[in-house]
Amino acid sequence: MMRQKRPFHVMIIPTLGCPSKCAYCWSSEVGSPVMSIETVKDIVEWLNVFRNDPVTFTFHGGEPLLAGADFYRIALPLLSDLKHLSPNFALQTNLWMLTHELAEVLAKHQIPIGSSLDGPMEINDLQRSEGYYERTMRGYEIAKEHGLQVQFICTFTSYSVKFKEAIFNYFLENGLTLKLHPALPSLRSDEPEKWALLPEEYGDLLVYLMDKYLENMDQIEVRNINDYCRCVFTGRGTVCTFVDCMENTFAVGPDGRIYPCYRFVGMPQYVMGDVRDRPSQADLAGSEAGMRMLQFKDYVDKNCKSCKHIRYCRGGCPYNAMVPASGDIKGVDPHCVAYKKIFDEISDRFNKEMMASLGMEKDFSGSSERANKPGIMALMRKLASN
Ligand code: SF4
Ligand code: SF4
Repeated sequence: MMRQKRPFHVMIIPTLGCPSKCAYCWSSEVGSPVMSIETVKDIVEWLNVFRNDPVTFTFHGGEPLLAGADFYRIALPLLSDLKHLSPNFALQTNLWMLTHELAEVLAKHQIPIGSSLDGPMEINDLQRSEGYYERTMRGYEIAKEHGLQVQFICTFTSYSVKFKEAIFNYFLENGLTLKLHPALPSLRSDEPEKWALLPEEYGDLLVYLMDKYLENMDQIEVRNINDYCRCVFTGRGTVCTFVDCMENTFAVGPDGRIYPCYRFVGMPQYVMGDVRDRPSQADLAGSEAGMRMLQFKDYVDKNCKSCKHIRYCRGGCPYNAMVPASGDIKGVDPHCVAYKKIFDEISDRFNKEMMASLGMEKDFSGSSERANKPGIMALMRKLASN
């Protein structure tokens, strides 16, 4: 019998350094080294025998473009040569350092880019850093000139959530897809909670954005709402937060050490192995960090047992759950409150719309009877037709 393929994800962190100083950042490190091509060759040697499934490589940071054009000119063909893994690529960058030379290298491999923009310039620069917006836009123009696809992630903080309407309208008016992240407590800061978005606020924000999205569905995509809907309708998570990410996600730091995900890079207690030792899947799972990740899975099986969303939520993100608790597994992702709220909202609305349309002589128009606005069923149809 043919074995079912299990796609996996390797995040490559060329450096933890970053030229920006975003107020709520938790992932950059001053003076971080840059990955050498020798380490890239070690990644290739390691993955040559590691497993036989499709892989996605995401270059992440810090700021991955700090590695420079020559790094990507050599690294991308080396990684692409792992033909048995059918590699796909992605890159997460603030675009400040994107030059025509770099863009040409990335375009040759058609690398989709994820960048960050927290809304209009005033809001973005206040919480990221002075001049951030302009520098990102400069890079965005270069990316577009070279035909690179760019999508922006918008981080909502305890400050910017007050301007949620302006932020939504900014993405709408500029024809940009909206993907959002809640700001996490920055454990590298003296005031870790200052910018963090409380789980309750995040839940309310998701419901607000869902309503705005439904009103403007033909003009904008709100990726997170699509993802939540897919979870509810298919019964399976479609993004890392809502699957058991352990064993299928790894990150390689600038020095070749392997971690469970980019979020853990640079934390010695989460090192699972080193690419130079060519560890097997079992070696990584058997490391102390690997076992801790698996313990999180067991914890979710026990503690989320009675939750109707467990199949497609899986306790959320283990980093969010463990790292603020100093590595102890004492709870699930603190955003549980928000996840429950949006999952409940989607399934309740769907059930109501379903009943209403059945009562309306089997009219499956997807319109909400109450407000006569496009509802969840209309969004479902949109997702199904894509
Ligand atoms: S630790 Fe969190 S961010 Fe990282 S892969 Fe898992 S769910 Fe995703
Ligand atoms: S919503 Fe909360 S309780 Fe339910 S599975 Fe997710 S983390 Fe667990």
